[in-house]
Amino acid sequence: MRRVLLLNITYEPLTTVGMHRAVCLVLGEKADVLHSDVSGIELRSETVRLAIPSVIRLRRYIRVPHRSRVPLTRAALMRRDNYLCAYCGTKADTIDHVIPRSRGGPHAWENCVASCTRCNHRKADRLIEELGWTLARDPAVPHGPHWRLIGAINDGDPQWVAYLAESSAA
Ligand SMILES: [Zn+2]
Repeated sequence: MRRVLLLNITYEPLTTVGMHRAVCLVLGEKADVLHSDVSGIELRSETVRLAIPSVIRLRRYIRVPHRSRVPLTRAALMRRDNYLCAYCGTKADTIDHVIPRSRGGPHAWENCVASCTRCNHRKADRLIEELGWTLARDPAVPHGPHWRLIGAINDGDPQWVAYLAESSAA
């Protein structure tokens, strides 16, 4: 069940891989171990001893094809909006569709914002123009590999944090 963070040779996080695949990459000399698991547990075979990897880095550059849109998830949306309500700026605890779904608004990055429950209830099925509300900024699709790894930072090893920092997120 343990996952290993896979970095490009540039240290850009690419994805997480299962332990078996990670070990194959390392033993196949396609990747090097940057950090071993803090548990210190070793994998042993007759010929090999290898500390369980936590972060591995590819030896060759992998060009990442521009994949489709970053999937819209609650965690990623909250992160994009800094956990703040798009309407009043207080702590957000729900997702609001700017154009309500009942009025044809899509469930898409461009139509979703983090919202507090109060604003969400007050807004109900109305448009912001009808309420005289404004948005500080237009909701947009986030870009960058880090957005695909949202959640990994919480699920993974603390050693991953440095590589998943937001500094290079678009
Ligand atoms: Zn609010």
